[in-house]
Amino acid sequence: MALNDDQRTLRDWVHGFAENVMRPAAHEWDEREETPWPIIREAATIGIYGLDFMANAVTDPTGLSMVLALEELAWGDAGLCMALMGSGLAVAAIMANGTPDQQAEWIPQCYGTPDDLKLGAFAVTEPDAGSDVSSLRTRATYDEATDEWVLNGTKTWITNGGIANLHVVVASVDPELGARGQASFVVPEGTAGIAMGQKFQKMGIRASHTAEVVLDECRVPGRCLLGGKERLDERLARARSGARSTAQAAMATFEATRPAVGAQALGIARAAYEYALDYAKERHQFGRAIIENQAIAFKLADMKTRLDAARLLVWRASWMAASRTPFENGEGSMSKLFAGEAAVRITEESIQILGGSGYVREHPVERWYRDAKIYTIFEGTSEIQRLIIARAISGVHIR
Ligand SMILES: Cc1cc2nc3c(=O)[nH]c(=O)nc-3n(C[C@H](O)[C@H](O)[C@H](O)COP(=O)(O)OP(=O)(O)OC[C@H]3O[C@@H](n4cnc5c(N)ncnc54)[C@H](O)[C@@H]3O)c2cc1C
Repeated sequence: MALNDDQRTLRDWVHGFAENVMRPAAHEWDEREETPWPIIREAATIGIYGLDFMANAVTDPTGLSMVLALEELAWGDAGLCMALMGSGLAVAAIMANGTPDQQAEWIPQCYGTPDDLKLGAFAVTEPDAGSDVSSLRTRATYDEATDEWVLNGTKTWITNGGIANLHVVVASVDPELGARGQASFVVPEGTAGIAMGQKFQKMGIRASHTAEVVLDECRVPGRCLLGGKERLDERLARARSGARSTAQAAMATFEATRPAVGAQALGIARAAYEYALDYAKERHQFGRAIIENQAIAFKLADMKTRLDAARLLVWRASWMAASRTPFENGEGSMSKLFAGEAAVRITEESIQILGGSGYVREHPVERWYRDAKIYTIFEGTSEIQRLIIARAISGVHIR
């Protein structure tokens, strides 16, 4: 499968940023565990963080631009990549659920400008609702007198949570309907009643901020309900009548973003594979390069095979999403599942190939291993991806 000129140019341009800006800064921001504002500003100045970049990537009919760029950014550093792409989760939610007017109003506010940077956050997960997104407790109640929605609840593990300028919050409007009774709300900058709770200290992707978000009598105007009230009322009426549902608010967003998550895992895996390959050629033991031992060379052969298989699954799923080809066999989930697990395996093998050098912070492979692990957990754990694929291929409601 050949890339066209535009795709190659995009990939090489993003690679330049990853190599020259992200790689040298990666260790520092992993240690600092803070939002890397100077890197975000630099990315915004050259057009990697922002509306135009996202718009170009999502309008590529082949679907490849986004995953090509993400692979390069995560190759540069996964934590910094997440700091740059966290706002994209809110953007994806607004694109999946918002009206054209809402998209035009809110999406630019997730990025701001290089002189006035903004962040977006997408808040679904709660302390008692992780994989089971149907059991959200955060409530949204409509105040007819003021045409406002009132949000109450606690969200957890939220990327950019509490520091974002704009949060998209998924809440239950009618708890009896489970996932079908949920809706997504924009909480704009300056809204009272939204606050950051605990900030989490993480194993990996530490340049990306993750925190709780507490909603306490948080009032947003009626126009902040994504999709609008009429559409919500129709959807609720259909659910109450027992009619079959189409997509749910949160699931629609996750479905569209899975290949993009897989692409990031792929970037980390490629970084680790390349590093281990170079090391294996240079490191000598027993009078020969360690790569001359089949035990090491075969590991590298497996790593490269897994890497390429992951890329093909990611590209296929991204093309299917862009061309609106239905994921009849859970192909989106397959790409995220395989790439996430490949990244964990490949980064672990890289440590093994580096021996003691792989275990210390002078080499980046231990960081890549820590970074890779999140890709089997967030945006649907590996178990949940398998559940989706198993249900899709069997038609059986496997539990
Ligand atoms: C760094 C980070 C960033 C995140 N960013 C965001 C964000 O921006 N927005 C957001 O909304 N969320 C975010 N999350 C939350 C993330 O999506 C959840 O952690 C994830 O969905 C898993 O939920 P959980 O942690 O509650 O695990 P649980 O659902 O409690 O799962 C625990 C274990 O049980 C397994 N399990 C659960 N149910 C089943 C089942 N039916 N069958 C088989 N196995 C099952 C899981 O696979 C897992 O192994 C983030 C998390 C992290 C760590």
